[in-house]
Amino acid sequence: MTKPTQPFEIARETLRRLAMNKTPPTPDNYRSIYHEITGSKIAEPFPERSLKALHAALPRDSAEQIRFARQLETAIAGANWDGLGAALNDLLAKPGAEPLAWSSLIRDLVHQFDTHHAGLTAAKKKETVEHVLSVSNSPELLFSRLQSAVRSWSHTPVGESSELAPDVAPDSSDTVPAPAAAPAGRPAVAAAGPDQPALRGGIGELQELIAQLLNNTLSIILAESPDLARESAEIAAAVRAAHNEAELGGLADRLKKLSYRAQYVAEDQAELKTALLHLVHLIIDNISELVVDDQWLTGQISVVRELVNQPLNLRQLDDVERRMKDVIIKQSSLKKSLNEAKDRLKMMLATFVDRLGDFSETTSGYHDKIEKCAERISKANDITELSDVLDEVMRETRTVQINAARSRDELSIMRARVHEAEGEVTRLQNELAHASDLVRHDALTGALNRKGMDEALESEVGRLRRQGGSLSLAMLDIDNFKKLNDSLGHAVGDAALVHLSQVARETIRPQDTLARYGGEEFVVLLPNTPIEDAVSAMVRVQRELTRRFFLSNNDKVLITFSCGVAELQGEETPYDALKRADEAMYLAKRAGKNRVVSA
Ligand code: GH3
Ligand code: MG
Ligand code: MG
Repeated sequence: MTKPTQPFEIARETLRRLAMNKTPPTPDNYRSIYHEITGSKIAEPFPERSLKALHAALPRDSAEQIRFARQLETAIAGANWDGLGAALNDLLAKPGAEPLAWSSLIRDLVHQFDTHHAGLTAAKKKETVEHVLSVSNSPELLFSRLQSAVRSWSHTPVGESSELAPDVAPDSSDTVPAPAAAPAGRPAVAAAGPDQPALRGGIGELQELIAQLLNNTLSIILAESPDLARESAEIAAAVRAAHNEAELGGLADRLKKLSYRAQYVAEDQAELKTALLHLVHLIIDNISELVVDDQWLTGQISVVRELVNQPLNLRQLDDVERRMKDVIIKQSSLKKSLNEAKDRLKMMLATFVDRLGDFSETTSGYHDKIEKCAERISKANDITELSDVLDEVMRETRTVQINAARSRDELSIMRARVHEAEGEVTRLQNELAHASDLVRHDALTGALNRKGMDEALESEVGRLRRQGGSLSLAMLDIDNFKKLNDSLGHAVGDAALVHLSQVARETIRPQDTLARYGGEEFVVLLPNTPIEDAVSAMVRVQRELTRRFFLSNNDKVLITFSCGVAELQGEETPYDALKRADEAMYLAKRAGKNRVVSA
């Protein structure tokens, strides 16, 4: 039999052999018999689709991961096995992938836990470990925090019996936040020194805590009641000085009395707060009654109202203050120009009506008189009578002429005044534009504008430097926004910006701030948020945006954005951090958009 050469002949022969050998007709069997017949080598097909799916699911949270994904993408596009191999080799060769030494850490932890350290109770150690467990949300973080806790214990001198020694706060290094951190500038629990309690062990700790409560906490509540504040400080000193339980017990009566009186003060303060809030509500309601036709102002007012309806904190009060200032600036300039325009209009109308009245009076009188003159002319018997009538006609005509000329002059003066009024309106408009420069919120979206953002950044950085913690900044840019504008129109583009701001505002926490950085770019300030949490927060906004469609004429339009996140470092200025966030945002764009990249 001649060797088949045509594809259909080869196919027929393949099927024949499959049937003859009773081989199951699977694609693989078909392929191998096919190649047997043609004598060609079996070339394994490149699994492009499967690899593409794998590539699409790769994480792209860091520059490293993005680089790897891009390397893989190039290899897949060129059906290049060698390229794939090289990418994987590169990835595995990365330094720093050392496994975490959990077993030795746990051994050290157990050992240090059982060792008695001067001033470190077992309860305190347990508290530290529980705290670290509850706040560390990645294995790496947990490892490094536990490691520094163990290290700090091992640096504490070994004591005889830790349970009886006065307690000392654990080393509160950067990586291990002390569970009950003392406020800045105040001593931690039972710091050694003149304030050291006279009693030892658990009672000593209690003694110190009561003294601190009186000195640090109660003093704030009693700031406006000097007598009580003094009594509180005296009891604190007496508590610290007590040498035995009996002496401590002897202070109970004074403490009870102080407690009653402090309770009244606290109740008064709570009432005061309620009354003040009530007043704020009244003011807001009153302003919103006055503001009827300015959409921007109505929007600002309703945000303020929403803010004061929530449990208040200092950040929200800042926001309320900023918005109220905006409302006041805009409202007063609007009112001024409105009043002036109204006055001018009234004056012009009055003058017109006057002139019109004069004019018609003059002309109707003239007609009456001329009619009478005409009658007298027709009845005139001699030339002298006629010349009298003509004199009168001339006189009346001249009067009308004079009146007409006067009216014309007055009308041209009026025209000049209108011109002047127009100039005034332009001036007022400019003034209003200038007033808007002082405003801190963007008129379209209600988010902070650049000026507002600068102020918010300044106060957040100030807070950070005073109180510690962290501050992350996210820069986001809408994807393919020009296309949306071009296909659906600028007005729909504007509405999309409003939608995005609304979704973002409702998804971030109340203490986070949204600002419009420019065009279709926004910045989110995330106080007390480490970078990994900030990334999750922004991914949450992305998800929410996918869930809550933007509707344009009942058509669902999907808006996505690319985002870069940076955490403010030590002495770095917030603008440098923003720059890093911006660069990370561009990486997100280059990696295919609709993603969040950390700087
Ligand atoms: P990319 O995904 O790379 O960010 O592409 P893009 O089209 O979003 O970016 P590009 O910077 O080319 O276009 C931004 C567009 O946003 C151009 C501008 O017309 C539009 N834009 C800026 N501000 C506004 C605005 O206030 N309203 C509307 N409707 N469009 C705006
Ligand atoms: Mg842009
Ligand atoms: Mg864009």
